[in-house]
Amino acid sequence: MKRMLIAGNWKMNTVGQEALILAKGIIEKVKELDDEKLNENFGILICPPFINIPMVSETVKGTKIKLGAQNCSDKLQGAFTGEVSVPMIKHFGCSHIIIGHSERRQYYHENDYSINQKLKIILESGLNAIVCIGETLDERQSGKTYEVLSSQLKEGLKEIQPNFSKNIVIAYEPVWAIGTGVSAETRQVEEAHSAIRKELEDIFGHKAKEMLIQYGGSVNEKNALELLSLEDVNGALIGGASLKVESFISIIHSALKSVY
Ligand code: PEP
Repeated sequence: MKRMLIAGNWKMNTVGQEALILAKGIIEKVKELDDEKLNENFGILICPPFINIPMVSETVKGTKIKLGAQNCSDKLQGAFTGEVSVPMIKHFGCSHIIIGHSERRQYYHENDYSINQKLKIILESGLNAIVCIGETLDERQSGKTYEVLSSQLKEGLKEIQPNFSKNIVIAYEPVWAIGTGVSAETRQVEEAHSAIRKELEDIFGHKAKEMLIQYGGSVNEKNALELLSLEDVNGALIGGASLKVESFISIIHSALKSVY
């Protein structure tokens, strides 16, 4: 059976109670799904802003919804004003942390070195990482897509032991498809995911087969089934459409259809 992780990246949205309302809305709808199908092969994850994690953490306790963070510090603890550490995130029951999102690379100048530092701390803390990679429009148009993906993977996953591969999810997110309403074409997704799987095999050997590779970039209720049915697509990282209960649940329905 194909494994799936459907993840909502709420970005810098939801103020106070809005986060609770959204989380509760998702929980209620997920309760209506076939419980048997939401097994260890099919995960649902929500990633609220840091400040709303403690509140949402209470709400998701005992449900089938996993909780994640959108970023973390590349330091374990200490005098790093404004940063949020992996142990702080773990304390509130988060299972996953997104790192290397293109918005962080673009607006906060994060690079593969700091992403690799974060990854090491996440894995050593016993959590799972969603490592985002993806090319810009310029890079795609100049034929550099696979060079970029390969370098982001090699640098981002540097010195990581293969036994940690099961705790790493790769999210392929072409930068030009994020938040634009225009997802990548199925052929482009298929090609990129297959190239990523090969690159992961070079890095982790046979363990790469078990790794989840999500697609992200304008996934919505209309295109989800087609994208999630593709080979080597093990779920989605969803921004805009994860902020509306109906849309997020509809994508989960498509994901279930593509698996069962
Ligand atoms: C994202 O935030 O990772 C993302 C893919 O956003 P959107 O779904 O809005 O394109």
